[in-house]
Amino acid sequence: MQIRQTNQVFNFDKYLTFEKDIDLKQRAWIEVKGKAIETNVRQLRSKLSKNCQFMAVVKADGYGHDAKLVSDYAIKGGASQLGVATLNEGIKLRSSGVKKPILILGNLYTKRDLIISFKNDLMPTISSIRECLICNNIGKHFGLKFSLHLKVDTGMSRLGFECSEFVQQFEKIKSFDNISIEGIYSHLSSADEINSLDPKSNTQLQRQKFQKLLKQINVDRNKNIKIHLANSAGMLIDKNFHFHMVRVGLSMYGYKPLSKINNNLFLNPALFLKVKVAFIRTIDKGVSVSYGGKFISNRKTKLAVLSIGYADGVPRNLSGKINVIHNNKFYPQVGCITMDQMMVDITDSNDIQVGSTMLLLGSDGDKTISPLDWARESNTIPWEILCSFKNRLPKVQVD
Ligand SMILES: *Cc1c(COP(=O)(O)O)cnc(C)c1O
Repeated sequence: MQIRQTNQVFNFDKYLTFEKDIDLKQRAWIEVKGKAIETNVRQLRSKLSKNCQFMAVVKADGYGHDAKLVSDYAIKGGASQLGVATLNEGIKLRSSGVKKPILILGNLYTKRDLIISFKNDLMPTISSIRECLICNNIGKHFGLKFSLHLKVDTGMSRLGFECSEFVQQFEKIKSFDNISIEGIYSHLSSADEINSLDPKSNTQLQRQKFQKLLKQINVDRNKNIKIHLANSAGMLIDKNFHFHMVRVGLSMYGYKPLSKINNNLFLNPALFLKVKVAFIRTIDKGVSVSYGGKFISNRKTKLAVLSIGYADGVPRNLSGKINVIHNNKFYPQVGCITMDQMMVDITDSNDIQVGSTMLLLGSDGDKTISPLDWARESNTIPWEILCSFKNRLPKVQVD
């Protein structure tokens, strides 16, 4: 099929098989540097004692980076275990060939889910005797031991055995023949708060409560049980939080949860959010931009329309509060961020064209925009920014 357009012959057939070579960088996309993850894990591990293991937390599709890619590079950097939130996240990793131990951090409470977890060699987190009994029955049925981690609540009031009841319940659990207790853990509620070094802070109190409990159950005699408490912030506070393993998410991706702590860590952000300029227009002074017309130009303004919006995971309440980078220069975003597009003032540029690539998150030269910046501006936390990116944004590895 050929069509003569103006005076150019256009071959359409070439484009009829487009599914085969879909252009991932056609609109907006996430670039992930696997090597950055590997280096971050290595650096973080250098702060741990030799016997302390590193669990790479890859829930929520690896905090929006692609769980399989993150797992592979984290393992290269020395991670010996992986943490996911859901059964399906675990199954997906197993079926993509990941062999390391995987702990499901969320709660499985049906027999069906626990059987599926067992069959996929995933360790569930157990918070009650009832779930323990189900696991024991499953193990018995298959003539094997069901590996799992027990969780105790030390101040989060989310999952976990009640601390005051655990000592007694642990005695009972120890008598179950068809489970294998691989770990006992708890989770910190406030480790990323600035007072977490203060001996009276919730974080320190949680640690003390956990340690007291471990003493009561005489955990030293159960040497194969891995004890763990720390998330990224907990790990960075001090060694008292490390025990036999740390469960690290945010800082493995290159961000510090605690700005106050200075421990010579130079973490590399692994995620770059990029977008194409889809259109350029020039508006006069006094013209309104985007829904609600809240931005009005105070000069003749050149606008770039970028193909990304809140349906891709850019929070709408960042409207008018962020910059975008091009060739080591910042350009302000103006007007409301819409579902699929946003406008940027590029009046001061002479090198941006339709099809140019602009950077929303990441570094270019000495300019950096971090999810921490976005979180501050939109009154949330970097964790939420990272896991809000939608499937519409393809992930491209760039090592
Ligand atoms: C998400 C999660 C982590 C990792 O937290 P970061 O602050 O991202 O390091 C650790 N433990 C549990 C139980 C979690 O749910």
